[in-house]
Amino acid sequence: RAKTEGRGVYRIYSAEMGAKLRRYHYLLDEMRQAIDSTNFFLTYQPVIDIDDFGISYFEALVRWQHPVEGTIAPDEFIPIAEDSNLILDLGDWILDEACRQMAAWYNAGMKKVRISVNVSPIQLKHKSLYDWIIKSLAKSGLPPHSLMLEITESCFIEASDELFNELEKLRADGVMIAIDDFGTGFSSLSVLAHLPVDVLKIDKLFVAEAIHNIKYKKILHSIVDMALKLELKVVAEGIENKEQLELLKTLGVKHIQGYLISRPQRSNYVGEKIFEQGINHMAQTGTSRWPP
Ligand code: C2E
Ligand code: MG
Ligand code: MG
Ligand code: MG
Repeated sequence: RAKTEGRGVYRIYSAEMGAKLRRYHYLLDEMRQAIDSTNFFLTYQPVIDIDDFGISYFEALVRWQHPVEGTIAPDEFIPIAEDSNLILDLGDWILDEACRQMAAWYNAGMKKVRISVNVSPIQLKHKSLYDWIIKSLAKSGLPPHSLMLEITESCFIEASDELFNELEKLRADGVMIAIDDFGTGFSSLSVLAHLPVDVLKIDKLFVAEAIHNIKYKKILHSIVDMALKLELKVVAEGIENKEQLELLKTLGVKHIQGYLISRPQRSNYVGEKIFEQGINHMAQTGTSRWPP
């Protein structure tokens, strides 16, 4: 009996694998067709100040608008783009598009809010980071102090001296650097002291765990304490409810992102709603969120 079950399980498993593999190659072929604004678009999700809900920055998050499949999420296609190095072309388009959009908002009066762009480890491996960023800024006319880059924790583990230098040069020009998904890699807290970064972004899995797991909560508390002592800004991602909001407030986190505040939105929605809100906030209080 066990034998039959075993074979049955194997058959289902292999059929599933086959379907996954077909989908993988199908999407890869489709992606090769064209990487431009007819197939991809950016959404924007605000990161806000926990005390007054003013906007600190928008994170640009890419979506694939497929004619047959509908909208495809980045968790599905970014890994395929990375395996095939198509992320290099896609990443160029993403950076240019994000800078172009932010420059338009900047010129419309939103001078103190940044745009944040996710950078893949494959891009860091193949591109000269500093020249790449500076060229895109020049093309769009966006000032460096309006840009932030999000680089995952794992990228820093094997980072070269050259990458560190490029990050330092960007920071000297005013570009902010964030460590993304902090807590999912294996870096010790002490490495934080040496990284060329301004912002530490705590992964949403960590936030979700801390609510019901006291050990996670304690670790989270010490990460936040350490980061703030090192004068890093701390952002918690994935805030979905008031309970999480309250917990992070208690732990000293000042900046949050999550569905509780806003889902990622298309630029026209941001333009009409969130953008207005940000402008109004600044007009009322006279304060900027994250000044250059
Ligand atoms: P990430 O950079 O850590 O981005 C945060 C992800 O969490 C986004 O998913 C965002 O929509 C989601 N999120 C925000 N708030 C909440 C919440 O309250 N609850 C839940 N469940 N999720 C929330 P998204 O847009 O699907 O992107 C997933 C990942 O794909 C990103 O994680 C990033 O690693 C990658 N990605 C997205 N856009 C880009 C891009 O333009 N370039 C690169 N290289 N990677 C990207
Ligand atoms: Mg990110
Ligand atoms: Mg993240
Ligand atoms: Mg993430």
